[in-house]
Amino acid sequence: MAGGGDRSVMDTLHLLLLVAALPLAPGGAARSATAWTEEKNYHQPAILNSSSLRQVAEGTNISKMWQNDLRPLLIERYPGSPGSYTARQHIMKRIQRLQADWVLEVDTFLSQTPYGYRSFSNIISTLNPTAKRHLVLACHYDSKYFPHWDNNVFVGATDSAVPCAMMLELARALDKRLLSLKNISDSKPDLSLQLIFFDGEEAFFHWSPQDSLYGSRHLASKMASTLHPPGATRTNQLQGMDLLVLLDLIGAPNPVFPNFFPNSARWFNRLQAIEREFHELGLLKDHSWERQYFPSNGYRGGIQDDHIPFLRKGVPVLHLIASPFPEVWHTMEDNEEHLDEPTIDNLNKILQVFVLEYLHL
Ligand SMILES: [Zn+2]
Repeated sequence: MAGGGDRSVMDTLHLLLLVAALPLAPGGAARSATAWTEEKNYHQPAILNSSSLRQVAEGTNISKMWQNDLRPLLIERYPGSPGSYTARQHIMKRIQRLQADWVLEVDTFLSQTPYGYRSFSNIISTLNPTAKRHLVLACHYDSKYFPHWDNNVFVGATDSAVPCAMMLELARALDKRLLSLKNISDSKPDLSLQLIFFDGEEAFFHWSPQDSLYGSRHLASKMASTLHPPGATRTNQLQGMDLLVLLDLIGAPNPVFPNFFPNSARWFNRLQAIEREFHELGLLKDHSWERQYFPSNGYRGGIQDDHIPFLRKGVPVLHLIASPFPEVWHTMEDNEEHLDEPTIDNLNKILQVFVLEYLHL
């Protein structure tokens, strides 16, 4: 019969539509049926109100960051140099003194460079390494190698001592709240925080696929072959990365951070909304809305940086790099004197709120 036949076609169609709709359902039964590796695609921030924003603004301290985190990093620290060792020790000491249970790992390896084999060491600092998912903040701590002349030393203040110091200040300012991530409960997502300090981002000689991104290339392939979470047989550490937020070339006045990737645009939009909220509350210094940091002018072509090896393996990326680059980029003037303290302080506040919202803290 035609009628019966139509009915069963309709039922089949209905079922197909339901199945197709499942992954898009906002929560409940459909969510629990979703693989944990897909959860990042539906993750929603817990948006902070204005009194929480005030607390963040009061809790961060740019002079402390400057003195305790940043200044010790303003040294020559190309891979394998004495300064590289000092910078690494400094970063680890600043993290170890905190209350939150950071687990530190140093990923040391050798790689061929234009100057022969060199040693590199990434630093990975993780809260709750057994948590399935991690929001990841990253920067590079190496400085570009330049020969000395007239006692000039390249210290890469914006490239990327400031981003490293911002991450250390974030860990300090949010220490107590991050401590509470330890108590993973049913009501909270199985989600935590990871900080990565890459070595060897810079080319020794001329930027090329072989001479650049030494640390990130090594770590991305290592994480791709490391099973995660404990006991997993099919999923790896890269799938456990919710979002890689890469900070680079930060610290010059009037930075503009373009939106590079459509698949992380909703997180870029959060940064934009947080900037606006802080601006309206009058909690940003020397900040005008005409020179907003996170403008809505569409997508810009990508810039080669430490996110590339992760992006190629499917990790969602938010690339926080000032574009145009700071005027002092790769010159001896990329030093403390040319940094803009209010801008860095403002960005600290925005980044800290972003992390709290992402982690539901
Ligand atoms: Zn550089």
